[in-house]
Amino acid sequence: MAQFKFRCSECGGVFSEDPKLLVCPECCKHQVQGGSIRGVLEVEILDGPTCWPDEPLGSPDFLQQALPLGDPNHLAPLPIGNTPLLDVPRLRRELEMPRLWLKDDSRNPSGSTKDRASLLVAAKAAEYGFETIATASTGNAATALAAVCAASGQRAIVLVPAGAPPAKLTQMLAYGAEVVPIDGSYDDAFELCRHACAEFGWYNRNTALNPFTLEGKKTLALEIARQLGSETPDAVIVPTGDGVILGGVAKGFSDLVDWGLINRVPRLIAVQPEGASSLISALADGAEDVTTVPGAASVADSLVVKAPRNARLALRRIRQSGGGGITVSDDAIIAAIGRLARLTGVFAEPAAAASLAGLETALEAGLAGRDERVVLLITGTGLKDRDAAARSVTMPSAICPELGHVAERLGLVR
Ligand SMILES: [Zn+2]
Repeated sequence: MAQFKFRCSECGGVFSEDPKLLVCPECCKHQVQGGSIRGVLEVEILDGPTCWPDEPLGSPDFLQQALPLGDPNHLAPLPIGNTPLLDVPRLRRELEMPRLWLKDDSRNPSGSTKDRASLLVAAKAAEYGFETIATASTGNAATALAAVCAASGQRAIVLVPAGAPPAKLTQMLAYGAEVVPIDGSYDDAFELCRHACAEFGWYNRNTALNPFTLEGKKTLALEIARQLGSETPDAVIVPTGDGVILGGVAKGFSDLVDWGLINRVPRLIAVQPEGASSLISALADGAEDVTTVPGAASVADSLVVKAPRNARLALRRIRQSGGGGITVSDDAIIAAIGRLARLTGVFAEPAAAASLAGLETALEAGLAGRDERVVLLITGTGLKDRDAAARSVTMPSAICPELGHVAERLGLVR
């Protein structure tokens, strides 16, 4: 097992592993109800790997070196991670970006990046002896936890807004999670889950609050670096809600620098929808925390948060990397779903397509260059939100089953 400590991302305080420790005991005294998490802890691996392994990065042996994982036997038996980095030649030509890649994380078992966090959290819960794991979620984190717990035999309780896309609700129920729809927002579910875990003794997977959510997502960066070899990307475009995928990606690249396996962290470019863009506003204002957005809303449900829970750390990581942030409209997100699917064969949910919509704006704003090495993160599959995807296409009417009607419909000369 990799030896590790927790380090507070705010005050720098160092703490030993403790199953009850989720956030810095000092900084959490400044916690504001409904605000970003104060005292987010990062894992500090003390003796990480010093060379790339021969085996795949998702193999238990490597994960045990790179993650704070006691016993790899606690990992759920699901093929999480090791997703492809796609060359996308047609999208490259259209955007005149010869060194553009897609990291297609929609290929994870439950269809989203959240599987990575749930895998590590569930393994730590088993290690600590918790029988029940709970989480609040906009949909994907709950589905990921449900899938992982289905494979491992652990109990999953998930609190989600009742208005989450039906496909996500159906998926988590099918996996056998105990689903508690909340007549409220994701932010309401987050606070309720905190109280419920304290009251009932469940292990809390709430994103950002549980330090292993950040740590689990860092495997995205390890894989990108390994897949690109010596070509460390210049920029990575990250769809951003709570800021935990962004924080995890930053942590992964930062660990690789510490381990001597790459020489720099790429510029991290956060993309948020216009209707939930508090992190981007804070970046523009030079603020170290966000101002909450009442009534946050977007077609990209996975990114709709009033107060990004990992805001303070995400803002610092973006600035340290020399990156930035951009907002995209819902119309641009919908258009990007169709464009991405047509030109790459990758069908993304709205939040994931936001990265392509954001790339266009990033190019215009000078945050990324067409000749740079740029990676777009595709964080979830389009099958999770069929209604949103349907807005990107026109459904044709049915024809009589006759050849003449086929020719007429397709404009063919006979
Ligand atoms: Zn602290």
